[in-house]
Amino acid sequence: MASPAGEVWVFVETTRGATSDDGLTVPTRNGAGRATGLGAAEVSLELLGHARELAARLGARTGAVCAGGESARALAPALVAAGADTVYLAVHDSLTEYLAQPYARVVTEAVRHFQPQIVLYGATTTGRDLAPRVASALRTGLTADCTDLRIGDHEVKGVEYRDLLYQIRPAFGGNIIATIVSPEHRPQMATVREGVFRLPEPEAGRTGDVVELNVERVSGPHEGRNGKPTAAGGPILLDDLDFAVALVRRARENRSVDLKGARVVVSGGVGVGSAAGFTLLRELASTLGGVVGASRAAVDAGWIGREHQVGQTGTTVRPKLYIAAGISGSVQHRAGMDQSARILAINSDPLAPIFVVAHYGIVGDLHEVVPKLIKAYREKG
Ligand code: FAD
Repeated sequence: MASPAGEVWVFVETTRGATSDDGLTVPTRNGAGRATGLGAAEVSLELLGHARELAARLGARTGAVCAGGESARALAPALVAAGADTVYLAVHDSLTEYLAQPYARVVTEAVRHFQPQIVLYGATTTGRDLAPRVASALRTGLTADCTDLRIGDHEVKGVEYRDLLYQIRPAFGGNIIATIVSPEHRPQMATVREGVFRLPEPEAGRTGDVVELNVERVSGPHEGRNGKPTAAGGPILLDDLDFAVALVRRARENRSVDLKGARVVVSGGVGVGSAAGFTLLRELASTLGGVVGASRAAVDAGWIGREHQVGQTGTTVRPKLYIAAGISGSVQHRAGMDQSARILAINSDPLAPIFVVAHYGIVGDLHEVVPKLIKAYREKG
């Protein structure tokens, strides 16, 4: 049954811990599912933390919808601790690995049945694959790549809509920040990039409900085909067509740089001048115990890998110290770093926009400034 105010839901993406040399599965960083190595993706936990704030504003409850094999059950306590009032679990062997079609059916049917007013997804490969399918099946809207979500009212042609989800994201190449609303259709749905919201501290002792969704695999056609809802209150039926695509092999590439988890990020832009120029920034980063980031222009120039990109279409970072060397400070770059605790900008142009968000600024040639910084930090120990 739908809750009175309509819940605020998060689709929970699962991740597997890395496999160590001895073949054991290492738990994911957030510790969820320690015993199985199956964890909730950090972006899902970040969204749960924010869903709690949205739900409090709406006087509603939060829900986490999660699908998987048997091991997915182990995630429920971590999801409750992160902010879920109810965990909706769809457990079935055929859901062990993410596949677009069956997952879309599970989420669609769960939404039809429980009628949340908001459903949020990480703007990950999975979220970007899944959310449009669910939106299309439910004939509702979807805003991709939001950088903020708030609750507010909206008036159009004399009609006032209260407590809508403001889906906020850069638009027109980042030149404007658009606030998008979905006044008429439910649920209101958005994908949100990793790192936009803070990872909530798990709240030990927090209590929540677990609702098991009844999932059945059938072989013939059924009424859920062709977009028709599964019978109200009945099981969610997955048929052979849902599994027309099979997962043949799963290859996992570990991230070579952990920008999100770094305390210090030393980023370089066009001002660095070349791939070799990044050696200097690597030296500064290693002196400070940090990692190297980059602007998109430096990445596009082929000077450094895409996994180092900070910004709207890269990673959102919030380190204790962010050093921007030879980066002009475009709105797209700032979207990924302006929440850093301390920002130091080094730029030869005193009017560079990066100085607007910087706490400390050095006007000068980075090739002269950075070696002096390295020397000074080393002397300081
Ligand atoms: P520039 O803007 O060329 O700036 C170089 C700076 O270096 C200048 O300020 C210059 O004064 C300074 N400089 C030059 N030589 C030196 C020197 N020797 N010492 C010190 N300073 C020097 N960009 C991102 O970074 N991340 C994103 O995620 C991102 N997403 C985008 C998404 C979209 C849809 C679009 C349209 C753009 C996106 N961009 C993104 C690109 C963004 O608009 C800018 O083009 C890019 O950030 C510029 O990179 P930059 O600051 O390195 O280069």
